[in-house]
Amino acid sequence: SAASYPYERMQKIREQNIAPSLRTYYKKPLLLHQGHMQWLFDHEGQRYLDLFAGIVTVSVGHCHPKVTMATQKQLARLWHTTNIYMYPAIHEYAEKLTSLFPDPLKVVYLTNSGSEANDLAMFMARLHTRNFDIISLRQCYQMFFVVHGEAAIVEILQCKLFENAAALKGVNGAVQYPRNFLKEAYQLIREKGGLCISDEVQTGFGRTGSHFWGFQTHGVVPDIVTLAKGIGNGFPMAAVVTTKEIASSLAQNLHFNTFGGNPLACVVGAAVLDAIEEDGLQKNSEDVGTYMLLELAKLRDKFEIVGDVRGKGLMIGVEMVTDKDNRHPLPAEEISQIWEDCKDMGVLIGRGGLYSQTFRIKPPMCITKSDVDFAVEVFCTALQRHVERAAAK
Ligand code: PMP
Repeated sequence: SAASYPYERMQKIREQNIAPSLRTYYKKPLLLHQGHMQWLFDHEGQRYLDLFAGIVTVSVGHCHPKVTMATQKQLARLWHTTNIYMYPAIHEYAEKLTSLFPDPLKVVYLTNSGSEANDLAMFMARLHTRNFDIISLRQCYQMFFVVHGEAAIVEILQCKLFENAAALKGVNGAVQYPRNFLKEAYQLIREKGGLCISDEVQTGFGRTGSHFWGFQTHGVVPDIVTLAKGIGNGFPMAAVVTTKEIASSLAQNLHFNTFGGNPLACVVGAAVLDAIEEDGLQKNSEDVGTYMLLELAKLRDKFEIVGDVRGKGLMIGVEMVTDKDNRHPLPAEEISQIWEDCKDMGVLIGRGGLYSQTFRIKPPMCITKSDVDFAVEVFCTALQRHVERAAAK
């Protein structure tokens, strides 16, 4: 198919037959041929270190052999809905997944995507509390009917929180919550009869290093947790984990999901959990993530445009600014050039933040320290080129 679909033909099909809302990255988008662990290979055999895979989905490594083998075995055995019959895979997976949660988070619903999991979480919270409004922080992964940062109620909440003292927000560019922020937010919400939902779609599965789930790094226990992306290492699956009590509110209504928890998904999910444990990936996130954070932080002293380097484990944000005094976001076209240069030198990174000014780094958790050395050198070269371009102007 590579011969009958050359690059130009695919571009034409994209323009004519694929929804324009599906945007590709880079001026000349990558045409992928293969993935292996932390590496991607394009149609010309060029190799890229994928520092973005973890944001978009891959947690344990592209085509991780254990996950691939388990999937292949199941592919030849049974694909079906298992919601109306019994099959071992969902039981085995439900037991494995919920064993990783503290009490009382012991009931799981399996869905097909993170959006679906978040919709279900909000539906459950509304049914259980009989309240309608949902508060979410600005610049988080957003849904309809959600009150954002500016609304009055949130303002009261935030004032109260910040007055008192004051996880990690992925989409916004690895922004860390102030100390005690979540603890106090949870307390305030619960005092008002609300429930707390933790979206662990980006922060979960050991990525933050010190803990398996992001909420644990803040000493809180949510009422509902949503999981996606890394849960399936690239396979479309997601989950909502909650308490028996909240789940029973949903049980009073008809709830059915054809593919949620299908045998293939459950086998993939279980293999991902095994890979995290057997390959020591949570510890690797902590060790390699801390190393990377410290190496990148050195660039802050070297370059005026590196405004902030932050994160935890293998979830890192590097914020680009015009200068350290004003801290305005670096103009979009200048950030894009640095980003394109990194890609041309073989390193893929993500973008995020209100002005798309933050480079987001979330590699597969199997990344090594020597990969970090390579990535930091490439990034440093791209920044140096920016300095030279600015000086030549
Ligand atoms: N939550 C977060 C934090 C996300 O980043 C995303 C996707 N960007 C989602 C939920 C939605 O997941 P999905 O794309 O699988 O619907």
